[in-house]
Amino acid sequence: MVAEGCGVYGAFDRSGQDIFPYLYWGLLAQNHRGHQSHGFLTYKGGFHSHRALGLIPPIDERGIRFWLTLLPGPVGIGNVRYSTSGASDTPSLIRNTQPLTEELEGTSLSISFNGNVVNVLELRREFRRELEGRERFSDAVLLCRKMLKGLREGGDLASAAKYCMEGVEGAFSVAGLTGDGALFAFRDPHGIKPLCLGRDDNVTAISSESVGLNINGIDLGSEVKPGELVVVTREGVEREQVAPCGRKAFCAFEFAYFARPDSIFNSKYVYLARNDFGANLGRRYSDIARRLDVILSIPETADDAAYGFHEETGVPWDRALRRHRYVTQRAFITRAEERERILERKVNILKSRVAGKRVGVIDDSIVRGDTTRTNVKKLRAAGAVEVHLFITFPRIIGPCFYGIDMATYEELIGARLTPEEIAEELGADSVNYQPIEDFVRATGMRREDLCLGCVTGEYPTPLAQKMADEMRERFLRGEEEKGRIYEVLR
Ligand code: SF4
Repeated sequence: MVAEGCGVYGAFDRSGQDIFPYLYWGLLAQNHRGHQSHGFLTYKGGFHSHRALGLIPPIDERGIRFWLTLLPGPVGIGNVRYSTSGASDTPSLIRNTQPLTEELEGTSLSISFNGNVVNVLELRREFRRELEGRERFSDAVLLCRKMLKGLREGGDLASAAKYCMEGVEGAFSVAGLTGDGALFAFRDPHGIKPLCLGRDDNVTAISSESVGLNINGIDLGSEVKPGELVVVTREGVEREQVAPCGRKAFCAFEFAYFARPDSIFNSKYVYLARNDFGANLGRRYSDIARRLDVILSIPETADDAAYGFHEETGVPWDRALRRHRYVTQRAFITRAEERERILERKVNILKSRVAGKRVGVIDDSIVRGDTTRTNVKKLRAAGAVEVHLFITFPRIIGPCFYGIDMATYEELIGARLTPEEIAEELGADSVNYQPIEDFVRATGMRREDLCLGCVTGEYPTPLAQKMADEMRERFLRGEEEKGRIYEVLR
C-alpha cells in the first residue's frame, strides 16, 4: 500500500489557449512538496498525459513548444509526488505516478491527490473485485474508484464528491478532470491539506499552495473550504458545500516545515508565522539566549525563525550554515537509507564563523533525530564550544496518519525520550522546543482549527485516533511495531 505527500495543480483557460505552461510553472513552484515523480494531464478531445520519475525538468522556450504538442488543450491537472509509506521501488513509483486515470462502465476520471486515506483496509474490501490482480496501488486509486461509484449512483460531481467525503476517512485535497474535460477540486471535510484557488482574466487555477498561483501571475483568491467542491467550466466557477465542514483540522506541520515561506495560509504568510516562532523561542528561553554568541539556522525552513529570534534577543544571526543549492532532496522526505548520505552533503559549515563560539541553532523539527545529530556533529567538528538547539515545531510524540512520513512511535525520538535525553542522544547542550500554545498563537489560527495530532496525541478523525491509541499501547508495552501504520490493524 502506498500513501502520498504531494502537490496538486489544476487550471482552465476559458480563452481556449493551451494550459500546459500554467501547469508546468505551477508545479515547478511546488516541487518541494514531492520529488519522486511528476505528471501532467490535459484534455483536448480526450486525455493526454506525461508522467515521469524525479523532479520536474527544466524546460526552455523550445521545450515548452514541444511539450505543447504532447499536452494540448485548455484544461489540465498535474502532480508532484512523494510516497510516504509502502513500496518505493521504481516499478511502484512509476505505477503510482499521478495524475492517475480510472474507468468504470465507460466513465473515466482522472485525479491528482495530496493526502492519505486512513480507512484503506475498508476501501480495499469494498473494491476487492474491481481491483483484483492489481498490486501495490496507491490511495489515489481508491479515492478515484470511490468517486466513480458516487458518479454512477448520484449522477453528478457533487454526489460523487459527497460520496467520497462520507466514505473516505483521511486527508485529501484533490484536483481532477472528468472524461469530458470539466475541471474540479475538493477538499476533505477537515481541510487537513491545503488547497487554494485564484483567477486572472482568462485562467482559473487550483493549487496546493498560493506560490503555485503567484508564479503564473495569479493572486490568491481564496482557500477551497473543507468539504467544498469547486467545478470550473467555460461557463464559470461553481462552488458548493457538499459535506458539512466537520472539525477543521489544518496540518500544523505545513507552517513549520512543509510549505514555502511565501505561501499564504489563513491570510498569513508562512514566513511571518516562522518569524514569530523564532521570537517566541527567544522570549521563552531567554536565559539560554543570553549565553549565546551567535544564532544559526538550518537552511532554509528555519531561516525566518532565526531572524525572529535575533530580533527578539539581539543575538547576532550568522548564516554560517549554507545549503549546497543543487542537492535538492529534502532530508526528512527521504528514505532512511539515503538520508545520512544526503545530510552529509547537504549543508556546508563556514567553520571560522562558529569556531570557539557558543552557538544556538534553530531548526524546524526533530523527527527521527538523525538530521539533527549530523548537524550537531559537524558543528562540534567545526569548533563550536556549546550547541543549543531551538525547535520551532513542538515535540513530535506520535505518528501522522494523514500523509506526512512519520509512521511509528518507535522511529520518533520525541516519543521515546525527554528533551534532556534527546539533547544527550544528539550530542547537544540543550534542546528547546516551542510550546504548543506559542506555536498556535504564531500561526494566527485557532487551536481547534489545527491538526496537532503528532504533538498532542489527539487526532481529528476516529479511526486515526483508534490506531494511534492501539499503537501507543503496544509501544509502551515494548512490543515491536510491525510495519506501517496501515498494516497494524489488519
Ligand atoms: S498529525 Fe501532524 S503532520 Fe500529520 S496532519 Fe496532523 S499536524 Fe500534520
